[in-house]
Amino acid sequence: MYNEALKQLKIGNEYYVTHNCNPAVFDNAKRRELTEHGQKPYAIIVTCGDSRVPAEHLFSAGLGDLFVIRNAGNVISPIDIGSAEYAAEHLGTSLLVVLGHTHCGAVAATLEGDGESYIRSITDEIKEAIQEEKDPRKCEWLNAKNSVKKLLQSPILSHLKETNKLNILAGMYDIESGRVVFED
Ligand SMILES: [Zn+2]
Repeated sequence: MYNEALKQLKIGNEYYVTHNCNPAVFDNAKRRELTEHGQKPYAIIVTCGDSRVPAEHLFSAGLGDLFVIRNAGNVISPIDIGSAEYAAEHLGTSLLVVLGHTHCGAVAATLEGDGESYIRSITDEIKEAIQEEKDPRKCEWLNAKNSVKKLLQSPILSHLKETNKLNILAGMYDIESGRVVFED
């Protein structure tokens, strides 16, 4: 089932880069249907708050399709883990993607040694992920993969993964080409 979900994300992204529009339905009937029957999103996406990363659009997804968790730098706090647990366990979503992106400002700020006030809580997380790596593209991948690792610290999520009810992987969105690639 998570293979189907991953396939759907890949097809959705292919449509996005070739057609430059979102074909999903956003209308009263769809809203009514989801209100009456509840949501059953096919994927959980943990991604950056960057305005150039519109999660639904880049996967040609619509209402009720994706459970999206966002913060600057797609880092993982207990609140993000709790959100992912909710979607995976209670909504039965079987695919979780941590979607990093190219030219991520949070990663750049970490490399530049910036990070004041509460931003520090983000750059500290990213620093832990990238260690001494300096290449921004490599750092973005390291950060996304580290977030996957952090999510798996949750006994609920790791159990769902071990029992093949959940697949968790990292992906990368190229903000220029619009393409998403997933780790193997
Ligand atoms: Zn970012």
